Amino acid sequence: MKLGELEFHILSDGQLLLDGGAMFGVIPKPLWEKRAPADSRNRITLAMNCLLIEAAGKRILVETGAGDKMNAKLRDIYGLDGPRLVEGLRGYGLDPADIDIVIDTHLHFDHCGGNTRAEKDRILPTFPNAAYIAQKAEFDHALNPTERDRASFFEENYLPLAQAGRLSLIGGNQTIVPGVEVIVVPGHTAHMQCVKLTGGGKTAFLFADLVPTTAHLPLPWIMGYDLYPMITLENKKKWIPEVVREGWLALFSHDAKVPAAYLRERDGQWEAEPAKVD
Ligand SMILES: [Zn+2]
Repeated sequence: MKLGELEFHILSDGQLLLDGGAMFGVIPKPLWEKRAPADSRNRITLAMNCLLIEAAGKRILVETGAGDKMNAKLRDIYGLDGPRLVEGLRGYGLDPADIDIVIDTHLHFDHCGGNTRAEKDRILPTFPNAAYIAQKAEFDHALNPTERDRASFFEENYLPLAQAGRLSLIGGNQTIVPGVEVIVVPGHTAHMQCVKLTGGGKTAFLFADLVPTTAHLPLPWIMGYDLYPMITLENKKKWIPEVVREGWLALFSHDAKVPAAYLRERDGQWEAEPAKVD
């Protein structure tokens, strides 16, 4: 997909299976299972979508999926079939060494697990030449998560990068390169950032975990994982209408079938019209 000079692709790091109840918060199963059928362990099928962007002479990755460091028990619990991101990059003729910048929307394992890889007993950056970018306050929290969210954080995904001086910790909204902007949108975590791509008069907006799949477009369909669900609600009321009104392309971090869509309002509800992005 091209936005003027900026070009981007969507790659998935593979499948992720999460508890359907946790994914839809207060929504009863008879409603959510129509949109997202559950397996025998009550898990629904998600993807871990990442963006490969070429802009301003830089190759940028947004999100890195779960990577290759999860043990067999966790791979089974989460139904992981990856990692696939590096293989996906090779499909575009790129090597991990070709990536200049990696942006993590937040530091949950399914968004930044591919930041690093295990080689024997060492943890190394997967992208040896990249500057990694995360919100400083998200990083601080990731080092000291609470009892409620600590299962989502694994220090090996970000601490070795910080120790190697490879992690750029930013505070607030920032233009990373012209056409690629991060915007802090709290709710899921206190400092999650969405990513806005602009070029040639067009815009694409990665919702990250504000609206993880197209099934999460209705306002009360908010993940049970969210630390601040009322703030998620406020931010859904702010950002979804903006995406609709401005005709931006919406990008979904976890939708396995519709990673990109244009949103329309019909009879007071938002509908996703799938868009082709290869
Ligand atoms: Zn998350």
